[in-house]
Amino acid sequence: MSLNEKIQSISEAFLKDKNDFNSGLITFEELKNKYLSRKGLLSELYPLLNDIPDSDKPVFGKKINSVKNEISYEINQLIDDENSSSDSSFSIDSTMPGLDKLSGSIHPLTKIIEEIKSIFSRIGFSTIYGPEVDTDYYNFEALNIPKDHPARDMQDTFYIDKETLLRTHTSSSQIHFMEKNQPPIRVISPGRVYRNEDISVRSYCLFHQIEGLYIDKNVKFSDLKGTLDYFAKNLFGENVKTRFRPSYFPFTEPSAEMDVSCIFCNGKGCNICKYSGWLEILGCGMVDPEVFKFVNYDSDLWSGFAFGVGIERIAMLKYGVKDIRMFYSGDVQFLKQFKL
Ligand SMILES: [Zn+2]
Repeated sequence: MSLNEKIQSISEAFLKDKNDFNSGLITFEELKNKYLSRKGLLSELYPLLNDIPDSDKPVFGKKINSVKNEISYEINQLIDDENSSSDSSFSIDSTMPGLDKLSGSIHPLTKIIEEIKSIFSRIGFSTIYGPEVDTDYYNFEALNIPKDHPARDMQDTFYIDKETLLRTHTSSSQIHFMEKNQPPIRVISPGRVYRNEDISVRSYCLFHQIEGLYIDKNVKFSDLKGTLDYFAKNLFGENVKTRFRPSYFPFTEPSAEMDVSCIFCNGKGCNICKYSGWLEILGCGMVDPEVFKFVNYDSDLWSGFAFGVGIERIAMLKYGVKDIRMFYSGDVQFLKQFKL
């Protein structure tokens, strides 16, 4: 048998042995030993190179190498296939649920604040911020609430010392802004406020407000009504009706509370609106000329309106949250409902 025939016969024998291995007639070790070991069929070919003419050696050398590479590649493939089909740790169960990627969500109070900012920015209001730790002067006196004024009882206050306090409303940022700016003014001011109240389902020691202030020449109560009606319709929907009831705040005159028709029963009456058909949303009024005196505005020239919205109240209504404390609980189950 020539060398060429020998190489050919090894190739053919391997095909047969491969089939035998797949049928389970020989083991992997037997197959590997027969072809790839030091005494295997392929190793036996190399000494035969000495028996052929020198000029043929490179050609046959290449041939033997290529058959050897082919057979060892195929044998390695067989062991890989064997491993992947018998080793269950490598298998993939495509019916298993995937890994859930956790993502954060926007806090519901932040969502409401952003929405209200966006509604007012469309009609030219810019956003300003005031300090949370403030003085008695900015929080009370300059808002026409002198010491001993009974209105101070409406807001139980956290005092830091005799003159310093945690602001009880965002109205204090009005004074800071007016001191530094001249009319016309069109601003809203969101932020935290603090009151020393008993903690319950309805009240908490801190909450959020958005204050609004509009000052220009010839501003009338009808401007206030138009602006806040636009706000209510954008926040709760086009079909919402508004009404204004007389009220009292020391820094506005006249003062009012604005109600919207109940968003749950469309004004027919339900337990959320206590069967009145209306929900109280915010306090507002024309800025009292007394307040203008504190910031040296000419009240014969300028007039304006102010309003204050409680963010928690709006969020509780919009999202059907029954307990105000949920907003401060950090409860992930509660918060993840507000994913975008
Ligand atoms: Zn209702």
